[in-house]
Amino acid sequence: MSYEDTAMTQRSAAGARGTEAAPDDGACPACGAGQPGPGTIATVFRHGESWAVVRGIPAAICPACGEEFVDDATAMRLDMMRGQDFADERPAEMMEVPVFDYRPTGGRAS
Ligand SMILES: [Zn+2]
Repeated sequence: MSYEDTAMTQRSAAGARGTEAAPDDGACPACGAGQPGPGTIATVFRHGESWAVVRGIPAAICPACGEEFVDDATAMRLDMMRGQDFADERPAEMMEVPVFDYRPTGGRAS
């Protein structure tokens, strides 16, 4: 199982182990009102014909406007996971998602 070794090498090559996610000055760059605090977020990527969810991403989240800030090391790691099309990753779980056709307002459901 060289799978783990490969993952570790690539992680250190990217210089992960990053800085704090929260901006130092405290104020939210998006709204200026809130103070982003530590949390985790999930995001969705295109994955072939489908989608892939990555969850548990460390981020600073603004309680006022909900803006989410991810530090450079985390963003690089996400880029790497996506760039490799998640080849080094194993899904923690699979989920089904509803898919809707767009329907203009005023249209009659037939
Ligand atoms: Zn904010």
